[in-house]
Amino acid sequence: MIRAIPMNIKKFLILTASFFISVAALFFFVRATRDTVMVSSTRFLMGTVVEIKSPAASVEERKRAQDAIEKAFKEISRVEGVFSTFKIDSEISRINRETVNGPVKTTDEVLGLVERSIEFNKKTEGAFDITVKPLVELWRHARASQRLPTDVELKSALGRIGSKHISINRADKTIEFTIYGMAIDLGGVAKGYATSQAVRVLKECGIQNAIVNSGGDMYCLGMRSPASQWRVGIQHPRNKNKIFAELKLKDMAIDTSGDYEKFFTLEGKRYSHIIDPRTGYPIGDDTVSSTIIAKDPAVADMMATSMCVLGLKGLKIVNGMDGIDAIIIKNNNGVLEMLASAGIERKYDIVKK
Ligand code: ADP
Ligand code: MG
Repeated sequence: MIRAIPMNIKKFLILTASFFISVAALFFFVRATRDTVMVSSTRFLMGTVVEIKSPAASVEERKRAQDAIEKAFKEISRVEGVFSTFKIDSEISRINRETVNGPVKTTDEVLGLVERSIEFNKKTEGAFDITVKPLVELWRHARASQRLPTDVELKSALGRIGSKHISINRADKTIEFTIYGMAIDLGGVAKGYATSQAVRVLKECGIQNAIVNSGGDMYCLGMRSPASQWRVGIQHPRNKNKIFAELKLKDMAIDTSGDYEKFFTLEGKRYSHIIDPRTGYPIGDDTVSSTIIAKDPAVADMMATSMCVLGLKGLKIVNGMDGIDAIIIKNNNGVLEMLASAGIERKYDIVKK
């Protein structure tokens, strides 16, 4: 015969069991936290410092993280070898050289990223444009020779800009430029894409928690520790040692583009490395920096560059897009002002410093 346990004994047993389960959980949590080390490694890739970190709670996990990080660096280096315009033997440099003779056969990977860039050219009303290369070169020359481009030079470069002049044939796997003298530069998306590829490799190696930082293009995978998310600081645009705001992120990419990292001065004026493809001029200094938070680091990279060109208009575009948010820092006659897209306060824990 099964005898019913009186209610107060039942309660006592449940309470005792819960107590012991909680103590055991706390014990394992404290042990795991205490024994966890942050496996971290840096490499100079894509013209910047790339850092990958992953928490590991045991010797085996540490070894797995180290191996995975090595593989992720190898993948970033491979992506750089394909997309860099600074490498004359890259696939993009070969395309830029050979398209003068007609369509050039290339890989699905290159066609895929070029197509995504064209899609963002439309989404950003022309602000993001990988055909910006003739202008990039013109302004690089201006920097080297310390001489502003002439109107004729600007007009000539502007005549070779426009993503609509890229023609892709998916069946033949070819790319062609319909205007003579065009060239592409994927510098505004390659670092984000490389970051996404590195994250893919880490996941394939069984890594669930890591942070990849490709010179500002970041991805926060999982958690920093069982109790805390990754915290990412947005650097103060006018003081390198100060944090402007801080965000807690999980499985999200974050990227900041700004006028403060890469610029040159000519005749007393600052010129950014981001160019407005519609005017031919480097962007002005009213948008000091733009930060994008998105699922995909390539999207964050493209939109961060675009927001610097678009300013407040960019914020409107972001508000109309799914799963992406933005923070811009504007310069209002010397006073820095932070503006954010509609989702920022609702979705993220943001601490203004
Ligand atoms: P960083 O990561 O160095 O801040 P960005 O991601 O903002 O740089 O990309 C800047 C690079 O993108 C430039 O060096 C140039 O190669 C390219 N670029 C500049 N202007 C544009 C533009 N309007 N659209 C697309 N690419 C651009
Ligand atoms: Mg970018």
